[in-house]
Amino acid sequence: MTTIQKLLCLLLLSISCITYAQSDDVTITSTKLSDNVYMLVGQGGNIGVSVGEDGVFVIDNQFARLTPKIISAIKKLSDQPIVFLANTHYHGDHTGGNANMTKVGAKIIAHDNVRKRLAETPNRDGSINEAAALPIITFNDKMSLYINGEQVAIFHVDNAHTDGDVLLYFTESNVLHTGDTYFKGWYPYIDIASGGSIDGYIDAVKRALILIDDETKVIPGHGALSNKTEYTSFLKMLETLRTNIQAEIDKGKSEEEVAIDGALTKKYDDLGYSWNFINSEKIRRAIYKSLKH
Ligand SMILES: [Zn+2]
Repeated sequence: MTTIQKLLCLLLLSISCITYAQSDDVTITSTKLSDNVYMLVGQGGNIGVSVGEDGVFVIDNQFARLTPKIISAIKKLSDQPIVFLANTHYHGDHTGGNANMTKVGAKIIAHDNVRKRLAETPNRDGSINEAAALPIITFNDKMSLYINGEQVAIFHVDNAHTDGDVLLYFTESNVLHTGDTYFKGWYPYIDIASGGSIDGYIDAVKRALILIDDETKVIPGHGALSNKTEYTSFLKMLETLRTNIQAEIDKGKSEEEVAIDGALTKKYDDLGYSWNFINSEKIRRAIYKSLKH
């Protein structure tokens, strides 16, 4: 991230600051997970797609500039219209195409706080989202969507990655979309400025793990298709780091002392969890801040 981008992030505290090169050669790949559910990968948060005679239901949509590519990838899976779109949370790498999707007929579903944040938070260029980018169906806890022969259970988890996260479980296909409550194999972004917290994160993963089994196909917010075993390892990582950092807080250590203490995260640093956006120092700081909060 450049200094300018960092400054922008500070200015627009609640905007997702995962940065992506704006290359035009992004290809959208799709993987079939069940008779009617697919995972689409391009640039930004992973997309879930349900197809069938009721129409297409999409979960998340990456960036506005990718909408034409995403729609053409979906057209290869189904000739039905896109009827519903769910946002797992408000970050721009998951909701950037909202307005474009509304314009092709999708009705957007999200947690109350997603609509609130999309309506109130300026975009990186300072603009405010147009009405078409906002969810028209919102809820505060959970809801179900009955589509393409199955119930999709959509449930909110409190103060995890943000304050508006939902997870979506396809009950017949046995597919879970975790939103950004799961970064596969990477330290997660805990967006404290948008209501995220380490304890909420841990609770969210625990709740998801109760629902799923060894056969469940898990679509993480970021990273490759996953499963219950790997999601459980991710939980173990969060719990270990939380324990390690709480112990330092109990000893009276400052954020700066925790920030430079690589031993606290070494086991997981060595497993490759540190990455350019959330490196090991950043995750130590985030967990420290969250526990002190
Ligand atoms: Zn996010």
